[in-house]
Amino acid sequence: MASTPAVTLNDRNTIPQLGYGVFKVPPADTERAVLEAFELGYRHIDTAAIYGNEEGVGAAIASSGLARDELFITTKLWNDRHDGEEPRAAIGESLDKLGLDKVDLYLVHWPTPARDNYVHAWEKVIELREAGLTRSIGVSNHLVPHLERIVAATGVTPAVNQIELHPAYQQREITDWAAAHDVRIESWGPLGQGKYDLFEAGPIAAAAEAHGKTPAQAVLRWHLQKGFIVFPKSVRRERLQENLDVFDFELTEAEVAAIDDMDQPDGSGRVSAHPDEVN
Ligand code: NAD
Repeated sequence: MASTPAVTLNDRNTIPQLGYGVFKVPPADTERAVLEAFELGYRHIDTAAIYGNEEGVGAAIASSGLARDELFITTKLWNDRHDGEEPRAAIGESLDKLGLDKVDLYLVHWPTPARDNYVHAWEKVIELREAGLTRSIGVSNHLVPHLERIVAATGVTPAVNQIELHPAYQQREITDWAAAHDVRIESWGPLGQGKYDLFEAGPIAAAAEAHGKTPAQAVLRWHLQKGFIVFPKSVRRERLQENLDVFDFELTEAEVAAIDDMDQPDGSGRVSAHPDEVN
């Protein structure tokens, strides 16, 4: 199996373009699932304090025998930890659970605009990087006005913005802004969380058939060729393997364009929460 390419972030750190996301992986299953992912060749894990499974990720890291610098570990600051010195306490708790002295990427999970404290959260996350507790810093679920505000307030541009993104919901306003500001997009819900008939859609089924791949692999390949970072979730070994086996084929420009055309610019393709509603 060909190896996962690395993407260079705006702070010059590199991140494997494909990883394993552990949202909704039950805490009791996490160590086994992450160890299986490591065995298959995954080196990038996306977790969050709110997922409740950082300890399982940490246990897998400890028993994997892999060197720390071979791994890329992301975790996230939850919404009720933005104020005061809470971000420092929160990353400390995450690091204890992960068994690490620093993560590779720390994200502000949601802007929680009704609380109006995401600028403060970003200022504190910048301090966490300065303190050596994370190598890179970024945000998640930030819309363009949130991004513009945190950059104007601090002069520090996040390395990534992790947003819901899949063929029916391509968020072009945010991806255009990110491209113009050297911010990498991480697509969460890259397979639409299984909530719509993505795999039966004509352009995806056709691309999969043309390359002798599964529809999930065609969709992941589309993300990769768009330059997005992805970490599809599964707890099934065969799917973990399938999702990693996407580096030996390439969609044609026409196939990419046909999937691009699946976007619903009115936002009706969204399958999960809108950032303005999460507070
Ligand atoms: P996803 O699009 O990865 O969908 C996961 C579902 O797709 C699985 O439960 C499974 O049913 C199905 N699936 C996976 N591989 C498949 C395959 N090969 N064939 C058929 N079906 C398959 O959705 P997700 O888990 O929400 O997103 C991926 C990761 O993104 C998460 O695990 C998490 O790390 C991150 N995430 C971040 C946020 C955020 O707010 N920042 C929100 C949601 C998810």
